Amino acid sequence: MRNIKIGVLGFQGAIEEHVEATRRALKEVGTSGEVNVVKKLEEVEKLDGLIIPGGESTVIGSMMKQMGIIDYLRQTGGIPLFGTCAGMIVLAKKIRDRVLGDTSQPTAGILDVTVERNSFGRQGDSFEAELEIPAIGGLYRGVFIRAPIVVNVGDKVEVLCRLNGRIVAVRQEKIIATAFHPELANDPRIHMFFIKKIILSD
Ligand code: GLN
Repeated sequence: MRNIKIGVLGFQGAIEEHVEATRRALKEVGTSGEVNVVKKLEEVEKLDGLIIPGGESTVIGSMMKQMGIIDYLRQTGGIPLFGTCAGMIVLAKKIRDRVLGDTSQPTAGILDVTVERNSFGRQGDSFEAELEIPAIGGLYRGVFIRAPIVVNVGDKVEVLCRLNGRIVAVRQEKIIATAFHPELANDPRIHMFFIKKIILSD
C-alpha cells in the first residue's frame, strides 16, 4: 500500500489531538502514511482522507465555505471523511438546534442525516459514557462535549452506535461521523476504522 495522506482540518477545535490520535492509529494498523493539518483547498485536494474536528460548527463551516472546501466536497463526493462532533454537524444535510429549532448555517450537506446541535442540554454539557460499537469490536469510552445527536438518517446511512437509544455514530459509504470525541479517548480504534476505510477505498 502506498503512503496514505490524511489531513486534519485546522481552522478551529481539537486539531492536534486528532493529529496525534491518527498517527498512533496508523502505527497500530501498520500502514505508512502522513498526517498534516490542512486549511487550504490545494492541500485538501491532495488528501486520501480528511478529518474534521470538533469545535464550533458555525466557525468551522464558515471557514470551509470561504476556502472553497464545501464546494469541493460536494463536487467530488469522493474522499473518505471523518467528522467528530462539530465535524459531524458541518457534514450534515440538515441541522436543528435543541432550543432554537431549525437553523441555517454553512454545511457540506453530504451526510444524509438531520443533526440536532447541543442535544444533551446544559446538564449534559460534558460527560463520558460507555458505548457499544460493534463495528470496532465492542465497548468504547465516548467523550461528549456539548454534543449533537443524529435525529434522522437517510437510506444509505448505517447507524454505528446509539446511547440510550439516541444515534451518536454513523457511516455513509466513505463518511464516518461521531457525536463524541474519539481523539480524546486514548483509544485508537475509531481512527483505525477510518484508516481501514481509506485503504479499502483505494
Ligand atoms: N456544540 C458545538 C457546535 O454545535 C459542537 C461541540 C463540539 O464539537 N465539541 O458546534
